[in-house]
Amino acid sequence: MKVSSRLTNITGGGSGGWDLFNRARAMKQSGIPVTELTIGEHDTPTDPSILNAMHAAALAGHTGYTTIGGLAPLRERVAQRVEARTGVATGPENVLIVPGGQAGLFAALMATCEPGDTALYIDPYYATYPGTIRAAGAVPKPVKARSRHGFQPAGEDIDAAADSAAALLINSPNNPTGAVYSGRTLADIAEVCARREMWLISDEVYDTQVWSGTHVSSRALPGMAERTLVVGSMSKSHAMTGSRIGWIIGPQEAIAQIANLTTHTTYGVSGFTQMAACHALDRGEPFEAQIAAPFRRRRDMVMAQIAAQNVVRAIPAEGAMYVMLDLRATGLSGDAFANLLLDTHHVAVMPGESFGAAAAGHVRVALTVDDARLETAIAQLLDLAAHETVPNPG
Ligand code: PMP
Repeated sequence: MKVSSRLTNITGGGSGGWDLFNRARAMKQSGIPVTELTIGEHDTPTDPSILNAMHAAALAGHTGYTTIGGLAPLRERVAQRVEARTGVATGPENVLIVPGGQAGLFAALMATCEPGDTALYIDPYYATYPGTIRAAGAVPKPVKARSRHGFQPAGEDIDAAADSAAALLINSPNNPTGAVYSGRTLADIAEVCARREMWLISDEVYDTQVWSGTHVSSRALPGMAERTLVVGSMSKSHAMTGSRIGWIIGPQEAIAQIANLTTHTTYGVSGFTQMAACHALDRGEPFEAQIAAPFRRRRDMVMAQIAAQNVVRAIPAEGAMYVMLDLRATGLSGDAFANLLLDTHHVAVMPGESFGAAAAGHVRVALTVDDARLETAIAQLLDLAAHETVPNPG
């Protein structure tokens, strides 16, 4: 029997740039020691205190169906956290608990786009974005951000693409580029959204990983609380990727309608996971800083290695657990370079092309192995880039 085109069209037919990732995994399985700097997952498991809270909650009876929008204590805590971090008045009625940021992205797109509507997203982009837009029945349209502008998108480029677009999806701190959108970038985005009457979907799952600059939540910009849905998650901030817990923040009416969607899709998030999330949030900012610390340290280390040579250029890694490297001086595509690096040094990085045309000639390095291994891998990468670069005559 034929599967619906709604599903078969989600990926747009391509490999989604996973060829290199799959090749690295296959090499590893065949016994080759590959250093994987590919996916954004902490090199430490979820903290035992969170797991103990989960265990205790399950034993205490939190094993049944839960209220669809999320347990009251968790909605309350998330609302307080958002209000404290952004200054925007936020109550539990503005919060919907969902099974991870990815589920939040899908629900936010369902909430903002009619079937066939255009949804804009910024290229380079997190790998699932175009597929998630298609899954929600909308049409993805990329807006290029430029390497030479540190991958900050320009308001006029968004405006030029915005004809009849229903929503704009942004992500800051950004995966894959490490950019943290400046006040100017966000003000321009807010201005275009308001003038074009677009929803803004703001993916802020890396909001605790900011190394320079300041993270401003789009919802805090003047006039934006009414047209913004913020997607948050505990995956990155609390090293809880496998727990599948996140949220959507938005206007009360939209949140109530999205709750109706979750009644017909996920049917909520397990109570023991939500109680563990309450425990994790109660550990406060010091715990979040502790989870973020290794990435800050490794980012500083890698930036120092890059600064000591002049072939590879780093996009200023202002946030998130990645560094984007510009390898165009080698004359190789990101894909060719990443494959060569895997073959020569058994180091796996993601080709920039897998995140969109705007990242061609770049690779993304995830800072997700221990410092010593990362330092060696970066040294090998820089060495390869230097060898591949034809010296400038004269
Ligand atoms: N948005 C971005 C930018 C991400 O990098 C990720 C995970 N890699 C997600 C959303 C989804 O995260 P989760 O579903 O684990 O919360």
